[in-house]
Amino acid sequence: GLPEVPVRPVAERRESRRIQVGSVAVGGGAPVSVQSMTTTRTSDIGATLQQIAELTASGCQIVRVACPTQDDADALATIARKSQIPVIADIHFQPKYVFAAIEAGCAAVRVNPGNIKQFDDKVKEIARAAKDHGTPIRIGVNAGSLDRRLFQKYGRATPEALVESALWEASLFEEHDFRDLKISVKHNDPVVMIEAYRQLAARCDYPLHLGVTEAGPAFQGTIKSAVAFGALLSEGIGDTIRVSLSAPPAEEVKVGIQILESLNLRARRLEIVSCPSCGRAQVDVYRLADEVTAGLEGMEVPLRVAVMGCVVNGPGEAREADLGVASGNGKGQIFVKGEVIKTVPESKIVETLIEEAMKIAEQMEQDGVAS
Ligand code: SF4
Repeated sequence: GLPEVPVRPVAERRESRRIQVGSVAVGGGAPVSVQSMTTTRTSDIGATLQQIAELTASGCQIVRVACPTQDDADALATIARKSQIPVIADIHFQPKYVFAAIEAGCAAVRVNPGNIKQFDDKVKEIARAAKDHGTPIRIGVNAGSLDRRLFQKYGRATPEALVESALWEASLFEEHDFRDLKISVKHNDPVVMIEAYRQLAARCDYPLHLGVTEAGPAFQGTIKSAVAFGALLSEGIGDTIRVSLSAPPAEEVKVGIQILESLNLRARRLEIVSCPSCGRAQVDVYRLADEVTAGLEGMEVPLRVAVMGCVVNGPGEAREADLGVASGNGKGQIFVKGEVIKTVPESKIVETLIEEAMKIAEQMEQDGVAS
């Protein structure tokens, strides 16, 4: 299950209606969920299911698969049935794939009715099929594929243009009394994206899917997403998030989870409080922090481990943490719950910390603290 939300989230959440994406509730106060998208050919069922399994293991809660061809559409039923997490089919233009995805039991469909209307107006039939199957739809407005009419009106993909587009798309479903929607208004510029979501949040009560589109390679994309999601989530805006990186999708999930943990929107798991090191450092802090991180990877309990390079801030931080080391003079003082339990030589710091962390984790698990 989802980790329980800790006592002090960053902000009151915006009130939104709730939709149900398979087993995962989105909006209406449900925990903010993390999603990603596969990079395999969807028609390659084996490879796609394999990647979904990896994403599931990394903590992904909802997965989206692209559906550009009939072969992809044909693969959806098996993928939706065998995936452990809800599968959303991502469809552009072709209504027949939308019907196929709904029939296939996909947990949701991402489609923009504006596209559909333009080529083959089946919006009414889609609304009916989605309603019959209880399949929600995400309207995904994207700066890169903004309606030409709005481009002309606004000159470029401004926040106003994105919002107008999204609300117009939603109205095409509302006309058919279909409101089982969530919306995204993505842009590659966090400043535009933040403003677009703010405006959209004020003008509707649909749950919102946050995304910075084409955010870039891992480093830049991580920062853009963290900045943009951080701004919005700290105003209570956002119900599900997708970090887009030009990197393997499991990386997106890691970043997404870390963003939610940083904002207390999700119980923190392992947290390493390590100092940047400076001229006072008496041990190799980078190496220590890396080795401790690696040694404790996958730990599910909310453990805070301090790794400090010297005795200036060291003992203070180490005391605040569940466990920590403050180094000095080639030695490390190991703290557990604020008490120095032993002093070990530098070469023994990592193994001692890991050993003690395991003990604390075991105790936490027995006490039922684990998520
Ligand atoms: Fe420098 Fe010590 Fe602070 Fe680390 S803990 S940054 S070594 S003063």
